[in-house]
Amino acid sequence: HERTLTLQRYPARNNETLQAWDAADEYLINHVTEAGIPLDPTRPIIILNDSFGALSCWFADDGEVTTVTDSFIAKQGCMANLTENRLPPASIIDCLAELPENPQLVLMKLPKNNRLLVWQLQQLCQLLPADCPVIAAAKARDIHSSTLKLFEKHLGETKTSLAVKKARLIFCQANPALAQPLPAPQQWDVPEHKMTLSNHANVFSSDSLDIGARLLLEHIPRGGQYQDIIDLGCGNGVIGIKAARLNPQAKVICVDESYMAAASAQMNAEHNLDNPDQLTAKVNNCLDGFPAQSADLVLCNPPFHQQSAITDHIAWQMFCDAKHALRANGKLVVIGNRHLGYGAKLKRLFGNVTVIAQNNKFVVYQSDK
Ligand code: SAM
Repeated sequence: HERTLTLQRYPARNNETLQAWDAADEYLINHVTEAGIPLDPTRPIIILNDSFGALSCWFADDGEVTTVTDSFIAKQGCMANLTENRLPPASIIDCLAELPENPQLVLMKLPKNNRLLVWQLQQLCQLLPADCPVIAAAKARDIHSSTLKLFEKHLGETKTSLAVKKARLIFCQANPALAQPLPAPQQWDVPEHKMTLSNHANVFSSDSLDIGARLLLEHIPRGGQYQDIIDLGCGNGVIGIKAARLNPQAKVICVDESYMAAASAQMNAEHNLDNPDQLTAKVNNCLDGFPAQSADLVLCNPPFHQQSAITDHIAWQMFCDAKHALRANGKLVVIGNRHLGYGAKLKRLFGNVTVIAQNNKFVVYQSDK
């Protein structure tokens, strides 16, 4: 199309081998451009779940683009790529925010999580004018007949394209008769810890307690020396809430890169802590910007993929950031699947590591600064 964009993943890494866009982005861009869909600069284009801003950058000049993402990292990537390509800043909102009225076109990268998909389809169904097409894109292998049924059920009539470079498009037209109230957060009890947890649509393990988290919950340190505690990669906040209860003197910061996770952790603190002011949830990439020597204890159940890429670079970043944020004698407590081998990494970084608990699948490690 005689246009070139320079796109980078976020955060930037030396010797990056992964691309910041995929065949589904290309297919979507080619389709909209070649189909000659007329674009009206006065009406919003909504772009959902853009990975690192490929779509937001491409369409930035075609109308008022609103990018919707649950990921702080995707948001940072999108902003950086817009700046790098000298494009106007997009309005970037999170998935719990209200969508702009009267959009002319909705482009969507299929989210990995069907609960988030349903949430977004219902949001769209309530809002879309009759002339606004919805075009979603994904790897062909991620588009199942069950996925198409969700589009049919929650948004309207749905068709698909042929596969190109192993990507496919989904075309959907909103049917206002299908509009329903947005689903309430998923709620369940953890009776052995006397908690009731609510989970917005995109929260990790949103329908039950993660089995790793279950083991970590039994091994959270307590003691007067823990004044500042961080739950790094907090999801619904279950670990941070337990730490706050065991250490009533402490301030706890729950950190996640998912807006829905941070919102859930804050909501759960309000319902499960006698003093909810003890806990603050923050959306962030690992501990970027956290001051050195500001925490006594970091608790971490790390992620092992970023979008669809399997990688342990986020876990490594979390361990490095935790070391930076810890005070002298502070502790990092990590849970990991046995085969991930976090012990060797922690030993390399801290010079010490102890196994404080394990079962056949998981290991809880502690490293002291
Ligand atoms: N602590 C929760 C639990 O134990 O159930 C969730 C643990 S889950 C394995 C890992 C969490 O890390 C996810 O909620 C994910 O959104 C979050 N995460 C992934 N990448 C992150 C990053 N770069 N910075 C902060 N959090 C991140």
